[in-house]
Amino acid sequence: MGNFKKYNMYINGQWVEPSSGEYFESVNPATGKPWCLIARGNEVDVDRAVLAAHHTFTNSDWADMSYTERGHLLRKLGDLLAVHADELAQYETLDNGKLIREMRGQLNYLPEFFYYYAGLADKIHGETLPIDKKDMFVFSSREPIGVVAAITPWNSPLYLTFLKLAPALAAGNTIVIKPSEYTSASLLEFVKLIEEAGFPPGVVNILTGFGDSVGSPLTSHPLVKRIAFTGGSESAKHVVRNSANNFSKVSLELGGKSPNIVFEDANLENAAMGIIAGIYGASGQSCVAGSRAFLHESIYDKIMKIIVDRVSRIKVGDPMSQDTEMGPLATLSQLENVEKYVSLGKQEGGRLIHGGKRPEYLTDGFYYEPTIFEHPDNESRISREEVFGPVLSVIPFKTEEEVIKLANSTDYGLAAGIWVSDIAKAHRVAKRVRAGIVWINTYRSVSPIAPIGGSGLSGYGREGGIEAIYEYTQTKTVWVNTSSEKIQDPFIMR
Ligand code: NDP
Repeated sequence: MGNFKKYNMYINGQWVEPSSGEYFESVNPATGKPWCLIARGNEVDVDRAVLAAHHTFTNSDWADMSYTERGHLLRKLGDLLAVHADELAQYETLDNGKLIREMRGQLNYLPEFFYYYAGLADKIHGETLPIDKKDMFVFSSREPIGVVAAITPWNSPLYLTFLKLAPALAAGNTIVIKPSEYTSASLLEFVKLIEEAGFPPGVVNILTGFGDSVGSPLTSHPLVKRIAFTGGSESAKHVVRNSANNFSKVSLELGGKSPNIVFEDANLENAAMGIIAGIYGASGQSCVAGSRAFLHESIYDKIMKIIVDRVSRIKVGDPMSQDTEMGPLATLSQLENVEKYVSLGKQEGGRLIHGGKRPEYLTDGFYYEPTIFEHPDNESRISREEVFGPVLSVIPFKTEEEVIKLANSTDYGLAAGIWVSDIAKAHRVAKRVRAGIVWINTYRSVSPIAPIGGSGLSGYGREGGIEAIYEYTQTKTVWVNTSSEKIQDPFIMR
């Protein structure tokens, strides 16, 4: 192996070598060449990390810390992230090929997630219950659950980790994180900020390696009490099965086949930009990618002209360059997956009107042209399955009723975009479209305050917002008998 930077795993506040002694290469998608070495963990390392997290949860400064103090630590982590945002953005781009200008923007915004959950940390309270029994005082409290296993994919490594890390820690849990095998480096670089902020050892642990040898034993481990998974539906099925070993509470943030609907009264310039942002942002490797555009037949030709004109000018190239608009796919296998879907789309009768191949002028790296299919059958695989790449299916519609039916004709249920001026129609359609997130006259907007998540093949549970912190707590109900009378009959329910 070349002379690359070598990353170990982070367990119980220490950098540790993998028990296998093995490392694997992580590849820069812009060049197709390896640039660093990542430790190859296995079940021995998993056990070590979970035991450390369990010990810290049950018996440490962290376990005794007040919620307010935990909030202070998270705020400090947010401050440190703000200082190091640009540097971490470089690692994200190097490892997953997303545009440096997008990653700089994203990383500079991500401290807000720590600030938001830092503020919530000491507001996780229970209730006094107006109990229907005389001489009983009953209250509930919300307690942390224990060791959280967080598993993340490669498309937005730090953002998708922070969505789990910030509420999990604010609620007082400890965590073991397994990033994607393809994009572990930025999280391993981030660890130094955890140390600098002053989190006790064992609160945050990072295991690297593969789904079968790390993800699987981690999600099956008997001491794991909560699993937060973001990734594909097939891996999610394994995770849910694994959770039968520990009966963990599970949240699943999976993929989508999201509709982006344009009505006849929409601002067409904005709608066209929204469609482009929805499918070509992050080269289409986004769970919320608006991969199906439904365009009203009366404005179809007009908006298609705007879309095709802009798409033909998208600058594909080096993600480190400030003026690049679309970088490479994150991995070679993802590039091949996109190619497979494009040839399937052609076989299924979709009309390829733009792209559909690797750009000839970019010989190294995992690049693909922004691609448009017109009028594929809504029942075809290209219209039903997640491509996770820059491939748009465009379908015309006539009526509101028809487009709702088309939009909902998917096994996913993550996101939807609606472009419309009629406010009543906007609300009607938002209510009827099956999606956990609906954007009206915007697309791909995110905030720590707004929950995200879906239904069906898109998973269950929510990340972000107040709701997410509750997903990292469990309720305890405490009954206090305030009567001074003797208990007369021990054989009846009171
Ligand atoms: P994968 O499902 O392949 O992998 C996700 C994570 O799961 C990786 O860390 C992977 O490990 C791990 N994993 C794989 N198999 C198992 C297993 N048996 N047990 C436990 N963990 C396992 O997804 P991708 O990385 O390919 O990411 C793309 C998918 O993620 C898309 O479907 C996309 O829609 C979805 N996604 C959803 C988001 C949302 O918020 N809803 C956001 C972003 C992406 P490794 O890769 O190291 O082998």
